[in-house]
Formats: sequence, structure tokens, C-alpha cells
Amino acid sequence: MITNAHVSKVYKMGEIDLTVIHDLNLSINHGEFVAIVGPSGSGKSTVLNLLGCLDKPTSGKIMIDEIDVTQLDTTALANFRGENIGFIFQSFNLIPVLSVYENIEYPLIMIQNLPKEERKKRIMKLLEDVDMLDQKDKFPDQLSGGQRQRVAIARALVTNPKIVFADEPTANLDTKTSNQIITLMRNIQQEFNTTFIFATHDEKIVRVVDRIITIIDGVITDDKRVSL
Ligand code: ADP
Ligand code: MG
Repeated sequence: MITNAHVSKVYKMGEIDLTVIHDLNLSINHGEFVAIVGPSGSGKSTVLNLLGCLDKPTSGKIMIDEIDVTQLDTTALANFRGENIGFIFQSFNLIPVLSVYENIEYPLIMIQNLPKEERKKRIMKLLEDVDMLDQKDKFPDQLSGGQRQRVAIARALVTNPKIVFADEPTANLDTKTSNQIITLMRNIQQEFNTTFIFATHDEKIVRVVDRIITIIDGVITDDKRVSL
């Protein structure tokens, strides 16, 4: 469960303080499939980065499973992220000099010091899940956008995270590929009770989530549960 209280984020722009998140209070349960929506510049990515422990709030408290992550130092935060959180970005962020297999393996080597055989088992299973087994030795620049995003999803999931944050994951994909990727994430959520939190404009995502949180100018203006 993620809860946060009175979270704000202020960017210093020279002399000016720009408050982009105002007093955010939010609670998200495990297994929820949530979309954060709102116009461009409204603060969706900032909220994702704060909840996903990639960035620290200027004030306020963020609790993830009883741990106040705002109190962790950089190393502890990186470890916490490695054990609990997966991130999927709009631009995929794969490492160009690593193969598909190695990109997925990377977080396991960096964070979770698993033996090689165990790593291989997990990676092969995920490659199968995202239907990329036959592409495992290719490099990112040899793949289509949809294939890259599949690899990015596998990389985000390989550590068995409790929570996956996805920032506009379908923005660079065509409709058919977007739908496949969304179905893939939905299936993973249902199989493993993984929490998915999206920042998105995409109607195709918004249609299938359980909950839609609207942010405008750094403030939550609507939060509704949708029954399908
Ligand atoms: P969204 O993802 O909804 O498009 P963002 O969270 O990226 O919105 O941005 C929210 C606001 O914060 C915008 O006004 C943006 O210009 C500003 N912002 C984001 N990152 C920074 C930064 N590193 N420094 C200064 N301002 C930023
Ligand atoms: Mg954004």
C-alpha cells in the first residue's frame, strides 16, 4: 500500500520557486491498476517520480508498506527501489550496447544479486511472456518501438516488483501494439497482484483501469473508481 500526505514539490528556477505539486494526499492499494491523467505539464510525471522514489518531495511524507521512503538516504532508496519498484518510460530507456537478454538481466545484476541460473530462469520466462524469446540476442536499435517497449516491460518486471510505474508507456506505439502492451500489463497485474500506476493521456489505458486520478496544475481534482 502506498500512502502519502501533504506532499509538495518545488522546483527552483533561478530566483523563482515553482510549486508543481501542491499538498498531494493519496492512497493506493496493492493490486490496483490506476491511471493518473491530466493535461501536459500538470504534474503527472512528477508524481510518478516521487511515488516511484526516483525523486524526493520538497515536503511531506511518502509511505510504501509502512516505510517512510522520504527518510531513506540515497543508497537505501536505491536498494528499496530495486527490491520493490519497476519503471517503464515513454522512451523505453534501454541500454543500446546490451542485447535484449542483457537489458532484462541488468537490474538483477545491479540490485538483486541472484545466481546466474536463477537469473536465466526468470529472464527466459519473461521473454516468453512478452513474446520476445526469438529476439533475445538482438540489440535495441534492431527492434521496433513495440518490441522495445516489451523489453522495457520485461526489465521492469524481472525483479518481481510490487509496484510498477509506467510513464506514458504507449505514447510512442501504434494502436495495435498499444493494446497488446496494455493487455500484457493487465494480465501481469491479475496473475501477480502487481500494482500498476500509469501517467497517461491514452484513452486505451484509461478505458481499462480500475481507478482514474485527475491532476490539474499539481492538484488532484478528481479520483474515481471505475467498475468494468
Ligand atoms: P506532466 O507529466 O503532467 O506533463 P510534469 O510532471 O512533467 O507534467 O511537469 C509538471 C510541471 O513541472 C511543468 O510545469 C514542468 O515544466 C515542471 N517541471 C518538471 N520537471 C522540472 C524540472 N526538473 N525543473 C523545473 N521544472 C520542472
Ligand atoms: Mg509527463
